[in-house]
Amino acid sequence: MPLFDFVCRSCGKEFEALVMGSSKPSCPDCKSEDLEKQMSVFAHRSGGDSSSSGGSGSGSGCSSCSSSSCSTCH
Ligand SMILES: [Zn+2]
Repeated sequence: MPLFDFVCRSCGKEFEALVMGSSKPSCPDCKSEDLEKQMSVFAHRSGGDSSSSGGSGSGSGCSSCSSSSCSTCH
């Protein structure tokens, strides 16, 4: 879900907004669109959910070889 933190450059208001496609959010207080997007939203909010899914080591090697390429066992 494209939920971002924004800080309004006009009044300093911090808020969250859904950004769908190319639509631009506006400040809920002063309606300004001069906003600064905060990029650290996934780091400090709902931690651990943004880690890559798919489990351990998919793509490199297999269970029967320890090298990074499976050219010897496949
Ligand atoms: Zn504002």
